[in-house]
Amino acid sequence: MAESTELQARETIHAGGVWRAAVSGATREILDPADALPFAVVAEGDEKDTDLAIAAARRAFDEGPWPHTPVTERAALLRRVADLLVRDRDKLGRLEAQDAGKTVEEGRVDIDCVADAFRYFADLVAGEAPGRVVDAGSTDIHSVVVHEPIGVCAMITPWNYPLLQASWKIAPALAAGNTFVVKPSEITPMTTIAVIELLVEAGLPAGVANIVTGPGHSVGARLSEHPDVDLVSFTGGLVSGTKVAEAAAPTVKKVALELGGKNPNVVFADACATEEGFDTAVDQALNAAFIHSGQVCSAGARLIIEESVRDRFVTELARRAERIRLGRGTEDGVECGPLVSEQQRAKVEMYVESALKEGAVLRSGGKRPEPSPQRPENGYFYEPTVLDHCHREMRVIREEVFGPVLTVETFRTEDEAVALANDTEYGLAGGVWTADAGRARRVAGRLRHGTIWINDFHPYLPQAEWGGFGKSGVGRELGPAGLAEYRETKHVYQNLAPKPVRWFAG
Ligand code: NAD
Repeated sequence: MAESTELQARETIHAGGVWRAAVSGATREILDPADALPFAVVAEGDEKDTDLAIAAARRAFDEGPWPHTPVTERAALLRRVADLLVRDRDKLGRLEAQDAGKTVEEGRVDIDCVADAFRYFADLVAGEAPGRVVDAGSTDIHSVVVHEPIGVCAMITPWNYPLLQASWKIAPALAAGNTFVVKPSEITPMTTIAVIELLVEAGLPAGVANIVTGPGHSVGARLSEHPDVDLVSFTGGLVSGTKVAEAAAPTVKKVALELGGKNPNVVFADACATEEGFDTAVDQALNAAFIHSGQVCSAGARLIIEESVRDRFVTELARRAERIRLGRGTEDGVECGPLVSEQQRAKVEMYVESALKEGAVLRSGGKRPEPSPQRPENGYFYEPTVLDHCHREMRVIREEVFGPVLTVETFRTEDEAVALANDTEYGLAGGVWTADAGRARRVAGRLRHGTIWINDFHPYLPQAEWGGFGKSGVGRELGPAGLAEYRETKHVYQNLAPKPVRWFAG
């Protein structure tokens, strides 16, 4: 642990334009999941720091100027932030890789997506009409519906896509004219701290963007319950999301929840009829399940495959899964990094063990890999795992594992495929693979999930809404609905020729 004593604690709480340490003086070491060694020390905020940050955001909202800054200026600032992200792409991509345990290339792609989100919301607000005129049935009435910022927004984010998830909240909130306090996951705060620095560099007025680094039970809970917060937008697991909604209820603040998923990837035999089709479907099933070691809310963790092609498909899938190169994300040639923490790996191991006890058949992985020069012994690595012969009663089918575990179920008819794919309390995303265009559209129409990919998996577009049915959440991010989350709607009715109504004789 010699390294930890040499690391300088950084002032990572930003409130009212000032960088500070925690009021309590507490700090936290941030670990690299590839070797479990600390690489940074940040402030460990609590309720006191949160109150200060909320007060700063409140003042900046109530006293301005940001909520009243012309839309063109707000859009220009967001575009400047996008340019700064592009400038720092390599540095931020590496930082994200080290913090969250992904490959550097994945980290860089994340930063590209973050810059896209800032540009998208800049363009969206800049191109909008200032209000919607409503026909009130009389030329004496001018009636218009306008949108205004909602106020102080609290943002609570997870560790798997730290900056991407934060940007899906920060960019629309700023575009709409709000102020905010963001709380990144306590184990992956580094790039969110960096983006606040970029917002300052881009010229955002003091108090508009605030960050409190610290844990969920204190900082996150305080943000959720605080009466001066007008909206809380949360991305994370079902258990914490439910607590956020409960804490927010007494103050009747608006709540947006982006929660987990148990996402089906449905493969019909006709998709595998040609060699090329088979190769593509296997390759994409691998990508759906194992990118970022399966720590993706929309991971295609449930392969639901037509029985006639199951043996050939799963054999090839398991063969390729075994060849995935695991290691530290900053090493050349590595395809998959470690899990984010010891706790996360223990959870994955628990699910695999329980599935095997319940009758699943292990086709690949199912254990920690041997250490190697690319895989330090203390890193939280786990092999990509394929579990065949799974069924709905197993915990591994019903609960989100959030790790490199792919389960296999089979079907014989289209109805059976749809029933299996919808048999989850979640409803975030799903894939359908078929050569029959009619069936593709039919099945997509019947799946109860917020995003459906046909003959693809994982792509998302900033201009298309993202979010879940069922227990995958409430509300939407991205697209026009992702901006609407951060707004109040106001009807302004103006009578140009007022007269008495004589309802009362007087
Ligand atoms: P988590 O729920 O443990 O933590 C998420 C955030 O909530 C963290 O910042 C944490 O500190 C905070 N938190 C914890 N308890 C809290 C409380 N009582 N009050 C307020 N805040 C609290 O989730 P995680 O393990 O960081 O992330 C993984 C989860 O996130 C998975 O379930 C995944 O599916 C989900 N996720 C969803 C999406 C989506 O778009 N739907 C995207 C990414 C991740």
